[in-house]
Amino acid sequence: MSKILVTGAYGLVGSQFIGDEYQRIGSSDLNLLNQKYVDDFFYMSEKNGELPEGIIHCAGKVGGIQGNMNNQGQFFYENIFMNTSIIESARKFGIKKFIAFLSTCVFPDDVEYPLSSDKIHLGPPHKSNYGYAYAKRMSDIQIKAYREQYGVNYFSVIPCNIYGPNDNYNLESGHVIPMLIHKMYLAKKNNTDFIVWGSGNPLREFIFSEDVAKLTKLLYDNYDGSDPVVLSTSEEISIGEIVNIIAELMEYGGNIIFNKTKPDGQYRKPSDNSVIKNMLPDFQFTPLREGLKKSIDWFNGNYPKVRL
Ligand code: GDP
Repeated sequence: MSKILVTGAYGLVGSQFIGDEYQRIGSSDLNLLNQKYVDDFFYMSEKNGELPEGIIHCAGKVGGIQGNMNNQGQFFYENIFMNTSIIESARKFGIKKFIAFLSTCVFPDDVEYPLSSDKIHLGPPHKSNYGYAYAKRMSDIQIKAYREQYGVNYFSVIPCNIYGPNDNYNLESGHVIPMLIHKMYLAKKNNTDFIVWGSGNPLREFIFSEDVAKLTKLLYDNYDGSDPVVLSTSEEISIGEIVNIIAELMEYGGNIIFNKTKPDGQYRKPSDNSVIKNMLPDFQFTPLREGLKKSIDWFNGNYPKVRL
């Protein structure tokens, strides 16, 4: 039986695709930056009668606000080559279905809210992540162009901020939730202040990684449209409130300090999840507290062997 190939299979989202129907690969199995390697991989798969029926492309160079700001060039280069190579190989080898991952941070900074898929290209992205954002926008263009020219059934999903087990818990380049969990763990252990970046005022929407995988698989089975699909709860919460919930769950009683010399980034990026809501009205999102608890338990159970 031909399988669904999952790239980035050891990462935050990829690790949530579990079961025999998936062929899972990570960066040590295939270097997606090089078209020839990617073509060779599919060539060998075809020769062995193991060509996948579809691809869920989770691999990407991603980071939090500081990771993006410090690595604009690398994030641009790696994402644009990974996307371009695998979409082209998929098309050449007749792969029927392909799902690419964008993010709500690829949207224009100055745009009317809520964010919906028709607004991706309406203006420049926020300056903190333009390298990543423009590279990811190009995968949307490539998919649309390939659909038009080659008739392939490829599309993108646009999740809001994802969190969960197997995240990148690096203390400089990670996303906000894994960094807060890691920093709070250390502050508790060392009896030090807990430092939050920025004012705590920005608003974000968060989705648990397991929900992203479930929704993506439901779309894989049921969606054939050309428009990217936003994956989000459409529920905003401030960074300050997230800090309080994590402090409560981790039983941290020390000082919480907001370091305003660190960037706030975009003030908010509220998204329109009506496509998912209409298509999958019974889908139950993991409540934030429950997802945070699972992420914290995972971190505590795996530290220090976490991805840093
Ligand atoms: P973004 O959603 O793309 O901006 O990326 P992040 O996941 O890195 O979230 C950034 C937001 O969280 C900004 O408003 C930061 O000021 C705030 N924040 C607070 N503390 C931290 C932290 O320790 N790490 C990160 N990455 N962001 C933090």
